[in-house]
Amino acid sequence: MTSHINTSADIDYLCLQKINALHQQEIDEAVQRVLHGGWYLQGQENRAFEQHYAAYIGTSHCVTCANGLDALTLILRAYMEMGVMKEGDEVIVPANTYIASILAITDNKLVPVLVEPNAHTLQIDDSLLERAITERTRAVMIVHLYGRMAYTPQIAQICKRYGLKLIEDNAQAHGLAADNSGDAASGCCPRTGSLGDAAGHSFYPGKNLGALGDAGAVTTSDGPLAGVIRALANYGSKQKYVFRYAGRNSRMDEIQAAVLNVKLRYLDQENEQRRRVAAYYINNVCNERMVLPDMEYWKQSVFHIFPVMCSERDLLQQYLEERGVHTMIHYPIAPHKQQCYSQFNHLQLPITERIHASELSIPCNQVLTDAEVERIAALLRDFTC
Ligand SMILES: *Cc1c(COP(=O)(O)O)cnc(C)c1O
Repeated sequence: MTSHINTSADIDYLCLQKINALHQQEIDEAVQRVLHGGWYLQGQENRAFEQHYAAYIGTSHCVTCANGLDALTLILRAYMEMGVMKEGDEVIVPANTYIASILAITDNKLVPVLVEPNAHTLQIDDSLLERAITERTRAVMIVHLYGRMAYTPQIAQICKRYGLKLIEDNAQAHGLAADNSGDAASGCCPRTGSLGDAAGHSFYPGKNLGALGDAGAVTTSDGPLAGVIRALANYGSKQKYVFRYAGRNSRMDEIQAAVLNVKLRYLDQENEQRRRVAAYYINNVCNERMVLPDMEYWKQSVFHIFPVMCSERDLLQQYLEERGVHTMIHYPIAPHKQQCYSQFNHLQLPITERIHASELSIPCNQVLTDAEVERIAALLRDFTC
């Protein structure tokens, strides 16, 4: 125990129990319906979710699968089966992404080409894209990291000019819309997941749209691609016991689909609450020891994560912890510095490395009370090393 007297209850980084308790009755009913219906895989709950989610995102197809990593892996695998890319081809990806984006590439024996992010947006720097392209480049994978828009018209233009597929990793940005207000509720603005050729989504419990276990999906308006992905996720079969591809088993179970059908209805409203918490921090914290997201660059965000940059990051984390505020780091070690990617360990990516050394994620979600948000903002304001 420290000498600091903590009179208030602890604030969790993300309390999944509270997040799901918001919809307890509807979730209970959904789970009971599947339990008593007796049909647990590839049934009407998945079909309904695929329809609802494709309509929500704005694509003609949605294919559910077991998790977000599988969604990304299956997209690339399908392009390989279709002859669009082959082993040894290159895929451009932001260097500061979560490792799953890169694993999807290396799992397919494709080569990730790591590109630095912009220091303000923390998203892939589109001004560095063109010089990363070689004759082996086949795709650019953008990652809407922290829930902030990674897409730019320049990226789409470059992909078009060089004949590259544009793939979105939308694991952190469900519901993000392409207009400046971030409000897609009116349905007029395209959402992430519909901005490229195909997108992978994760419904890991802690994501903005989270299941009660693992779940994922691909969205695309490319019908043939969706067909190959659907077959690959189902043992490579389009017709029972006839195997076109050496596929895999990657299904979303009916309970997860039923729960997601409930939670999808509240996603826009809950993202709006995250945006309000983020705006409060941004408007009420001014401390030269840390850098908060700049609203000039962060209008297009659903704040899956609220990243604060602080050169004394570990001290700031300890300070908040001692005062009952739990935080996280996304992420402590950059992918190119990981043991599993020793072939990239020699790379020097200073912006990425600085982000990994200074990022701290502050609680930002729909179950924080106003008093909690104010308490966190006051602590951030008062931090002195
Ligand atoms: C969570 C996440 C994934 C992987 O999702 P899983 O469902 O855990 O496999 C992929 N990319 C990013 C950026 C993520 O945050």
